[in-house]
Amino acid sequence: MTLAAHMRVLRPHPMVRAYYDGRVAGQRFAPGANWVDDGALSLGIAAYAIVSGDAAVVYDSHVSLDHARAMRASLAAEGIRHIRVVLSHHHLDHVAGTAVFAGCEIIANRRTADHLTRDRPGIEAGTRPPAINPLILPNRVFDHAMVLRLGDDDLHLITANIHSDDATLIWWPSQGLLFAGDTVEDCATYVGAPQDFETHLADLGRLQVLGAQRILPNHGAPEVIATGGYGPELLTATASYIRWLMALPAHPERAEDPLREVIAAELAAGTLIWWPEYEVVHAQNIARTLKARG
Ligand SMILES: [Zn+2]
Repeated sequence: MTLAAHMRVLRPHPMVRAYYDGRVAGQRFAPGANWVDDGALSLGIAAYAIVSGDAAVVYDSHVSLDHARAMRASLAAEGIRHIRVVLSHHHLDHVAGTAVFAGCEIIANRRTADHLTRDRPGIEAGTRPPAINPLILPNRVFDHAMVLRLGDDDLHLITANIHSDDATLIWWPSQGLLFAGDTVEDCATYVGAPQDFETHLADLGRLQVLGAQRILPNHGAPEVIATGGYGPELLTATASYIRWLMALPAHPERAEDPLREVIAAELAAGTLIWWPEYEVVHAQNIARTLKARG
């Protein structure tokens, strides 16, 4: 049986497909600890395609070859012949299916390419299981920004340091749509580098200035993604959560506060939709913040 049996295709916009998996009761990708179940399917994960005529830009290659095959088959069934892949960042849940798109242009920013090149031996050996072998590296690398022509429209690839130092987002000005990768998540950003919080806030400010009407994160609530995505408040919510973490060393007693209380206002407003697996992310964010900045 395919490992992508639970993947569903959502349509947040007439030209956008979200290939969503996870948040399914009892679903297991593999027995034992593994990065697909822990942190990807547990939170829910989407890869995207923006389609125009017989061409598509795929945003991330998903968590496994089976997922990528299902995406590619679905696109082929729609008559898509020309595919380019853009990688949102180097984390494994976003790049595992790239081999299925071998022969296509695989686009990433230079940091992503460098991180993948550096980590490749361990990724292919399965140091953190499951292995991705072979790991296909990007074959078109850009610095800072790049414009992709799709149909008669432009997609802007922009880079940021939020969640990871190598984020590539897709900004689609004519539609007011921002594909955010893991720079924002519902319910909370996953912190890898607390020492960079000031940069994360500055880059969230840069994203706010774009004026996106809808934001599509790779980890979020399927019902929100299916109906068009999040409003710009998702950026504000992420910034206020980062500020809460930054204040933590001065208020260590708050380390026991559950996420559900920390983001209570955003949940009440409907900006964020509660998903209990994010308490695990929150506890890890607190530990990392206190270790790096306490
Ligand atoms: Zn991710």
